[in-house]
Amino acid sequence: MNIALIAHDRKKEEMIVFAIAYEQVLQDHQLFGTGTTGLRIMENTQLKVHRFMSGPLGGDQQIGAMVANNEMDLIIFLRDPLMAQPHEPDITALLRLCDVMGVPVATNMATAEILIKALERGDFKWRELNDKYKPGPGEL
Ligand code: PGA
Repeated sequence: MNIALIAHDRKKEEMIVFAIAYEQVLQDHQLFGTGTTGLRIMENTQLKVHRFMSGPLGGDQQIGAMVANNEMDLIIFLRDPLMAQPHEPDITALLRLCDVMGVPVATNMATAEILIKALERGDFKWRELNDKYKPGPGEL
């Protein structure tokens, strides 16, 4: 499965703790992340993360493009709800696309843990089935 990991600055420590705690689960999947989040995870674990641009420079949009192409299966996006972000429109766009495409997305640690345990159990196998019904360009 393709999994995206994104954390705003004041949530990065939480993301690192999450990545360390669930490294054994995450290592079986293809990981993607915004620039700094991806770097911090790789510095603190053995995980390999494909890094896009930093969020404010377009990283959320790059991950959004994967969602639009039905290439992303799960997103853990630890948002900072108490700090305005310069790229708020990009964040809204990414979450909207997740709803359009039916991609599971967690925006806080409680939901992230539920999703990762579901991933471990194989509850997202339907995402692979979903690939068979992947809409072509303009079919949605
Ligand atoms: P970063 O981007 O991982 O490059 O900090 C995350 C974000 O702010 O959206």
